[in-house]
Amino acid sequence: MNVTTSAAKQLINDEQLLRYSRQIFLPEIDVAGQQRLLDAKVLVLGLGGLGSPISMYLATSGVGQLVVVDPDQVELSNLQRQIVHTSATIGMEKVVSAKKMLNALNPDVEIVAHNRILSEEELVGAAREVDVVVDGTDNFAARFAINRACHAAGTPLVSGAVVRMEGQVSVYRFDQSGGPCYNCLYQEAVAAPDGQPQQSSWQNCSETGVLGSVAGIIGCIQATEVVKLLLGIGETLQGRLLLLDARTMEWNTVRLKNDPQCTVCGTE
Ligand SMILES: [Zn+2]
Repeated sequence: MNVTTSAAKQLINDEQLLRYSRQIFLPEIDVAGQQRLLDAKVLVLGLGGLGSPISMYLATSGVGQLVVVDPDQVELSNLQRQIVHTSATIGMEKVVSAKKMLNALNPDVEIVAHNRILSEEELVGAAREVDVVVDGTDNFAARFAINRACHAAGTPLVSGAVVRMEGQVSVYRFDQSGGPCYNCLYQEAVAAPDGQPQQSSWQNCSETGVLGSVAGIIGCIQATEVVKLLLGIGETLQGRLLLLDARTMEWNTVRLKNDPQCTVCGTE
């Protein structure tokens, strides 16, 4: 492997070279990319079915700082899908439970924890402090608030959702101009065959049921998109909504366009 800069040589130690070797072997990443991950900060909103795999894979990938936000405590009914928590952490604040797991997976990673819902102003501030925001929340109100905050902060957002055996993921590049946002596209993107939006069914996975592994699939895609954004590699899901129906294991991609009349990013 190439040690591409002297700074990287000094910063990445032998143990880290070994820990991240399978990533460093990837030509798209190499030592310089790994250093970039170690220097990166990501805001993870929600430590549930999506936030679990998101935070675990970002931690094992060596993202330097994870800011994790969740107001809830671990309950027995969470454990079927929220794999960052364990039977031993039932009753604990989710941020404390997750910090234990994430630091056990990788002590390199600094975990900054907020055990409450952030106000919109705080969300904007927190989004400004990081390189990427990733949304693992389970309700529309939070997703729209996070979209507004990321738009205001100019920080890219990786958004995902799961319900029953279905999932969806997209990326919104608020660090670039002209792309669509969650607010201007959501309704047309999940329209049923009859053209009517299906908002209610996507409202809250905790009320409608969800297969744990499907949350795992979508969360893993979100973590992958975060790493790609941090490294500037590949082609992200910007402008595309990826939809999974795990019953048939069929994937669909919906092209997203911005709505000039969008109340968040609209130009009219
Ligand atoms: Zn918009």
